[in-house]
Amino acid sequence: MLKIDSHTHILPKKMPNWSEKFGYGDFIYLQHHKKGFAKMMRGNQFFREIKENAWNAELRMNEYAKFETQVQVVCTIPVMFSYWAKPLDCLSLSQYLNDQIAKVVDKYPKNYIGLGTVPMQDTELAVKELGRLKKIGIKGIQIGSNINDENLNEERFFPIFHACEKLGLEVLVHPWNMMGEKKMQRYWLPWLVGMPAETSRAICSMIFGGIFEKLPKLRVMFAHAGGSFLPTIGRIKHGFDCRPDLVAIDNNIDPGKYLGKFWVDSVTHDGMMLEYVLKLQGSNRVMLGSDYPFPLGDLEIGKFIEEMDLTKKVKDDIFHLSALEWLDMKKEDLIS
Ligand SMILES: [Zn+2]
Repeated sequence: MLKIDSHTHILPKKMPNWSEKFGYGDFIYLQHHKKGFAKMMRGNQFFREIKENAWNAELRMNEYAKFETQVQVVCTIPVMFSYWAKPLDCLSLSQYLNDQIAKVVDKYPKNYIGLGTVPMQDTELAVKELGRLKKIGIKGIQIGSNINDENLNEERFFPIFHACEKLGLEVLVHPWNMMGEKKMQRYWLPWLVGMPAETSRAICSMIFGGIFEKLPKLRVMFAHAGGSFLPTIGRIKHGFDCRPDLVAIDNNIDPGKYLGKFWVDSVTHDGMMLEYVLKLQGSNRVMLGSDYPFPLGDLEIGKFIEEMDLTKKVKDDIFHLSALEWLDMKKEDLIS
């Protein structure tokens, strides 16, 4: 069966030392300190160690073959977004990352589909880069759940979403820059508590801000099965009903109506939760995702889904049909 992993991350093996190049800021750079490993450094601070599968396209394909998964949708790691940087510097960094992804896709068009990154802090530059992405064969973009702490419903982001809809570029919204991060450093809480909340923040902002209403053809996917949005949809709907004066100020459509309008991935690590997500979203809006190659991801690439008691139609949806619709691609584009 054709399997498309809709949520994976990749980096270039080599990157300029951006802080030196631009003369400021704690940009990420890679220190290849031993064979097969690199340290991601933020300024002079160690951020995370990554393995060769974060940059080696061939090695990744071999690892994926073990899980009979042919296609990876690749995007950068959110810490690379650099929305805090000067816009032109962020554009230059984004273009470097986007070009590298375009090269991987060019080399292995049946195995890789690319999502780019754009300088969200500068609407005009972001829209311009979207046009370039379309030309170099990138299918969509990945953006953060907030942009320098601003929510996605802010007016300045609307032209970017509008351009994505017009150009037919899909959007992956990924949690990052987690709310409350500084106040909950212990126990990995930014990742375990902050990330799911960030994703819900992004979905609620886009629903209540009327983005889906104004752009019905915009194809958006939220990471990690939509974070805490779906598990708390009852509360969100009730809030909309009991305090419309607070909630329904920009869009008076019931938030429940948007279930099944956007896509989510399958990164739940829990069959029961995935069944719930399928029930709310419909199987045609849930797609295999892994968050590979990071430890909090589903590094057996959907094995738990294979083991679930689901119909063939539901599995076809999760493993490729939903993703093909999100990507606006045909099965024939990937099968020779
Ligand atoms: Zn991810």
